Amino acid sequence: MKFADIEVLDANDPLAKKRELFSLDENTIYLDGNSLGALPKAVKSRINDVVEQQWGRDLIKSWNQHNWIDLPQTVGEKIAPLIGAGPGQVICCDSISVNLFKVLCSALQLNSERSVVLSTEDNFPTDLYMVQGLSDLLSTQRCQLRTVSEEEIASSLDESVAVLMLTQVNFRTGSLLDMQHLTSLAHEKGIIVVWDLAHSAGALPVELDKCNADFAVGCGYKYLNGGPGSPAFLYVAKRHQSTRQPLNGWMGHSQPFTFNPDYQAAESIHQYLVGTPSILAMSAMDAALDVWNDVDMGQVRAKSIELADLFMQLVDERPTLKSLKLCSTRKGNDRGSQLAYSHDNAYAICQALIEKGVIADFRAPNILRLGFTPLYTSYKDIWNAVGYLSEVIESEEFLKPQYNMKAKVT
Ligand SMILES: *Cc1c(COP(=O)(O)O)cnc(C)c1O
Repeated sequence: MKFADIEVLDANDPLAKKRELFSLDENTIYLDGNSLGALPKAVKSRINDVVEQQWGRDLIKSWNQHNWIDLPQTVGEKIAPLIGAGPGQVICCDSISVNLFKVLCSALQLNSERSVVLSTEDNFPTDLYMVQGLSDLLSTQRCQLRTVSEEEIASSLDESVAVLMLTQVNFRTGSLLDMQHLTSLAHEKGIIVVWDLAHSAGALPVELDKCNADFAVGCGYKYLNGGPGSPAFLYVAKRHQSTRQPLNGWMGHSQPFTFNPDYQAAESIHQYLVGTPSILAMSAMDAALDVWNDVDMGQVRAKSIELADLFMQLVDERPTLKSLKLCSTRKGNDRGSQLAYSHDNAYAICQALIEKGVIADFRAPNILRLGFTPLYTSYKDIWNAVGYLSEVIESEEFLKPQYNMKAKVT
């Protein structure tokens, strides 16, 4: 591969202009948008307005005047088309962990004579922790976690399983599960399915309605660029919306402002709201979502696969990078928007790479993880990133002590 070929790829990239919508330092190659999305410029002016005008001057009137009260719903409706959901089924609130608690409770109620929540052993830990906590609360007669490998999912779907809880894209390896196929297999056995879209929403086309999905949760701060700790989202198919969830907060009440002492759940996705939304965070999320206006998810997916394929090809072309072992599949269609390489010194390599302006991340025990965000990553970024990576490995700079001290957040 020659640099001239890379320039052609960038010149023909239909998404190239989207990078202007983001506030990104010229000298930074950001391959970590799968962990914290970059800052859309529109967020800055929006937050400034919310602070100065809405909070600063209009004060409490803003709940009505600036529609603060409707933000969980309006933001949910902006996310819906990105995940193939029709109106009235997505709401933006809380974190994935808390949203999982709510939808798992609903899903277990729909299958109350069964108790097993089936998941994968290498699912993101918080997903498994939430089931363990529910199991402690409800007893194992009502909820027990069973984990299997990704390959064993299909053969483990039997009549003891109440809920199948899967993350569509594996957070370490990036392997992509077949939502359509697994949802329909589970439904044949009367199993309710909960999908975690943390590494799918904004990364690849998702078709929740077409797959007849039951419940889903997803992240605001990864590919949707909502900002650190931004609210997450949840999806409940219309047919399940009369099923209750137990966190009876006042925002989920059918009429919160009657201040009735008795809880009466809203008859819509609104019953999944709990307490007062963070308006600053919700406003940032709302503004961030506008970068998706007229984005074709098919183009995003095609470029995401090409960026990762290019990365792998450039790594393969350099003998000095032989010590990196690919943990992701080479088949683009079976992969999310990231690559994982294992190396005994993955942490230090990642730190030395960051020092050179290439931001990736490390995932225990030994994974260097690289995320590809087609809206703001160019083919040239990939070329340069692999160049820096081979400098770091060839020179063994990563052995320096400063790159080997683990920080709290990796
Ligand atoms: C990032 C991520 C989460 C994050 O959960 P929060 O409660 O929102 O912090 C959950 N699940 C998966 C699969 C993730 O990748």
